[in-house]
Amino acid sequence: YESRTETGRLAAALNTMLARLSEARRERELSEQRLRHFVADASHELRTPLTSIRGFAELYRQGGAPETDDVARLMSRIEQEAQRMGALVEDLLLLARLDRQRSLDLGDLDVIALLGEVVHDARVRAPEREITASLPERPVRVPADRNRLWQVLNNLVTNALVHTSPETTVHVRASYETLGSGEPVASAGVDLPVGTRLALVEVADDGAGIEPEHAARVFDRFYRVADGRGRATGGTGLGLAIASAVVEAHGGRIELFSTPGEGTTFRVLLPLT
Ligand code: ADP
Repeated sequence: YESRTETGRLAAALNTMLARLSEARRERELSEQRLRHFVADASHELRTPLTSIRGFAELYRQGGAPETDDVARLMSRIEQEAQRMGALVEDLLLLARLDRQRSLDLGDLDVIALLGEVVHDARVRAPEREITASLPERPVRVPADRNRLWQVLNNLVTNALVHTSPETTVHVRASYETLGSGEPVASAGVDLPVGTRLALVEVADDGAGIEPEHAARVFDRFYRVADGRGRATGGTGLGLAIASAVVEAHGGRIELFSTPGEGTTFRVLLPLT
């Protein structure tokens, strides 16, 4: 009887081990598959501006732009495409760094001061736009990597300016919060328990909003929502992927609330410790 229960236990343990092994293998296959897709997408995204640069250079060599004015236009197109490639490469390098080691340069950071800088920069870049900021008087401190977090907040504010029409307003808010329950249409990062003490940053706009079927994918690498004419808008499509990777590396999460026709709100939740 003894040995039968022992055998049973052994078999059960073996079964659990096998299940874990196949689970681990499946996870590895999934992440390899994601990596293959990512490399394919990245190559494709880089090839597009490269093809344009080659085309413009070729045109110039063949004497296709005899007028000085045309030459200037050709050159500035080449410059634009090269800039686009440069931005892509920078974003890709940053994502690769975040994937590899999640290395953050953590310091005691006042989110309010940082947000103040981001808003100031945005107002300088887009003086024609209305950007409101309701920030608390006292600092909200979190352990955070200043440069990385600047990039996240700057990306959210820039998105709220770029992906909305000029007459709309961008609202930036920040506060201390205790995590309650809310129902975002999409989110990324760490699952935080209700009751977690947080620094909360909100970037809201009253633009056209994001349809639910797109909302689920905006944190994906290279995902861009096409405009009415089927064209993707200008950016690299990596901004929100980077934002979610950075926020996750801080142990936080990023949430998206959006009602088509009414606007979009991104919330960044960073645990205080
Ligand atoms: P991009 O470089 O295109 O801005 P992001 O990853 O930052 O890339 O954003 C992905 C897509 O999500 C954008 O291309 C845009 O379609 C959509 N998006 C992001 N922010 C907003 C917003 N505030 N309002 C409407 N659409 C948005």
